[in-house]
Amino acid sequence: MTTLHTQALLLRASDFGESDRILQLLTPATGRISVIAKGARRSVKRFGGNLDLFNQLRVQIERRRPQTLARLELARLVGAFHGLRTHPQRFALACYLLEVLSRLAPEGGSRAESERLFRFAASALAWLDASEPTPATRPLLEFRTLDAVGLRPELGRCVRCGARLGQGDGPRVAFLIGDGGPRCARCRTPGEAGFSLQLGTLRALETSLDFELRQLDRIVLGQRATDEAQRLLQRFLRFHVGPELRSERFLARLGPRGSAAS
Ligand SMILES: [Zn+2]
Repeated sequence: MTTLHTQALLLRASDFGESDRILQLLTPATGRISVIAKGARRSVKRFGGNLDLFNQLRVQIERRRPQTLARLELARLVGAFHGLRTHPQRFALACYLLEVLSRLAPEGGSRAESERLFRFAASALAWLDASEPTPATRPLLEFRTLDAVGLRPELGRCVRCGARLGQGDGPRVAFLIGDGGPRCARCRTPGEAGFSLQLGTLRALETSLDFELRQLDRIVLGQRATDEAQRLLQRFLRFHVGPELRSERFLARLGPRGSAAS
């Protein structure tokens, strides 16, 4: 039997059988891991009501035999992001982040990789918890999430020849979703389908990497750049994530500012 003590964020939870829950956790030790929480629905005492989304936990996980589902034995609350529950847009964005991670976070990556991703997820929740979401929050969050899981699109260079894009390639450039980046004017094939957007939008996204997560609220994106970045990253994420996420529909209903609920 192997026992693991580590921190964890809950990415997803579903009922199992009469009284159990199957949880997907993100930990700095293992990356994404599925565990069974025996009796989690029957006895509140066992996990103390700690198995809620957005809770940062200290857990004990046991695996009795290789290739079997690991068991959650203990879950203590380390921190909770209460601000996420008091604001619909923050809540929706945080659910979206967790759902994307539940699809894209690697299982059993290297320790360094898992630690980096866990730090990202905890910092991103902390940022959302304290932020006043604007229409730019979602694309900036999507971009950083792609970066954190190793799927960041290329923004500054032509994906075919590697040349740095410049004024001669703009003002509009073609971004090839399947290739993961833009093409310069020389490498563009007439009539080829691509996502057309302003060079400035790619530049703005690229610059956002210089900011720490908690500083992202300082970035001002114009309306057009926000719209383009949003559509580009949504398509790019969909390409990697697969079918539509539940939280995505929720976000769409809220509208970009979370005020247009209908
Ligand atoms: Zn090129």
